[in-house]
Amino acid sequence: MSYDAIVIGAGMSGLAAGIRLAMFDKKVVILEKHSIPGGLNSYYQRRNFQKGGVRQFDVGLHALTNFIKKGEKGKPFSKLLKQLRLSYDDFKLCPQTYSKIVFPNIELKFSNDFELLCSEVVEKFPKEKDHFFNLVEKVKSFNELDLGLGYQSSREVLKTLISDDLLIEMLICPLLIYGSAWEDDMDFAQFVIMFKSLYFEGFSRPQGGVRTIISLLMKKLEELGAEVRFKASVNSIITRDGRAVGVDVGGEEILAPVILSSIGYPETCRLTPELADKVSPRVGAMTFLESIFVFDKKILPAQNDSTIIFYNNNKKYNYRPAINYFDESSAVVCFPDNYEMNQSQGEGTVRVTYMANYQQWRDLERNHYEDKKELVGQSALNLVKKLSPGFEGELLFKDIFSPLTIERYTWHLNGTVYGSIDKTRDGSTPISGLYIIGTDQGFLGIVGSILSGISLANLHGLMGAEG
Ligand SMILES: Cc1cc2nc3c(=O)[nH]c(=O)nc-3n(C[C@H](O)[C@H](O)[C@H](O)COP(=O)(O)OP(=O)(O)OC[C@H]3O[C@@H](n4cnc5c(N)ncnc54)[C@H](O)[C@@H]3O)c2cc1C
Repeated sequence: MSYDAIVIGAGMSGLAAGIRLAMFDKKVVILEKHSIPGGLNSYYQRRNFQKGGVRQFDVGLHALTNFIKKGEKGKPFSKLLKQLRLSYDDFKLCPQTYSKIVFPNIELKFSNDFELLCSEVVEKFPKEKDHFFNLVEKVKSFNELDLGLGYQSSREVLKTLISDDLLIEMLICPLLIYGSAWEDDMDFAQFVIMFKSLYFEGFSRPQGGVRTIISLLMKKLEELGAEVRFKASVNSIITRDGRAVGVDVGGEEILAPVILSSIGYPETCRLTPELADKVSPRVGAMTFLESIFVFDKKILPAQNDSTIIFYNNNKKYNYRPAINYFDESSAVVCFPDNYEMNQSQGEGTVRVTYMANYQQWRDLERNHYEDKKELVGQSALNLVKKLSPGFEGELLFKDIFSPLTIERYTWHLNGTVYGSIDKTRDGSTPISGLYIIGTDQGFLGIVGSILSGISLANLHGLMGAEG
């Protein structure tokens, strides 16, 4: 069987790349190892605790970054809509109320209106006012899309602009945990991407959760007649004389001159011996534990009305694998019921993310696995109650994913979520015809990986087709 292009993986980047290629009449196939699409941001089923039958849960959606209002132009999300020919209304976006960064004895609020963060910084760090606005100007004028940029430490850049260490820690905290493959720091280009996505633009959540996004992408692929194969695990990428020519799926050879791989750079090397001889991108260490709780009632606005809390109980924000199984000194706590327009009567849901340590979970004896998850759940539950004083809801359901769960269902080595620390910003590899898209191209998160799939399909799959 031969195609114009093969896309490996039906996560956000793979689906978006497939749409772009099919839109320009390329014969494209998306090969996905799992039985459903979505990759790191998929969904799963559990027995319904209320009415029998089954119920679907998002794996981890907290927030869609890069919020825009209807009709706004020139922003990442508007590019996504234009390039995939999707309508704003289809996403049914519910904006956040506001979110906050909570450190000992101080908090900074931010919302989809950047003015809120500015006024919070001016009020709480008056001496840093000019420094903060210098940082904002630097972020505005920086071209983070320059594919030729090398790594530059964000902490080093921040130290040249801001004098108060606490302000640096508070500003960098959400940006690290929502998008850094590097421990305790991030590439400044990535910092700028995240600063714009979180602070300039903000958060929303599609009504219906991540399935709303996945359904839109799958429907588009169907309309365009693109082929998506599930339970189609790519065993190896076939190369000849330094060129990728196809893939092996269960003994079947599928041929194409262009292969876009979204499974990760180190993971792609493992499937491509000729590539592994030439490069060895490192596997990132950042992985997480995700807990989901469903209560019999919602948390009242008086108990907590924020959408996401970036919590840290130290003056310094330590972003690195937990020393123990999980690190309860910091967390991201998401209250999906506090997205505007999402408010209704009935059950309440809360999600808590902790940094984890892959190796410890790997080494854990099987019969202690559930007990350890129970400890994580208890800790996360205590934190939810601490952040929502007075809330006494009855817990109806809880579920906890470990780094092993992430590894088992996405095949990312070490359950890493933000991929390798060795990104390939233009997607190219030493093997011609083989390109990396998604997380290890350097654009991550849902919007980032969709844009990565679009840009690299344009760059390497369409070669000059107009958008
Ligand atoms: C718990 C959790 C919560 C998150 N929350 C958010 C959030 O709130 N907001 C946000 O913006 N981002 C969030 N993210 C990050 C976001 O999900 C990812 O950055 C993004 O989905 C990555 O997409 P991708 O296409 O690059 O890669 P992936 O989603 O990893 O897609 C790769 C695909 O390749 C498939 N695959 C692997 N090996 C093979 C093979 N050999 N053959 C065929 N297929 C293969 C995998 O099954 C997978 O479907 C979260 C991630 C996690 C884990």
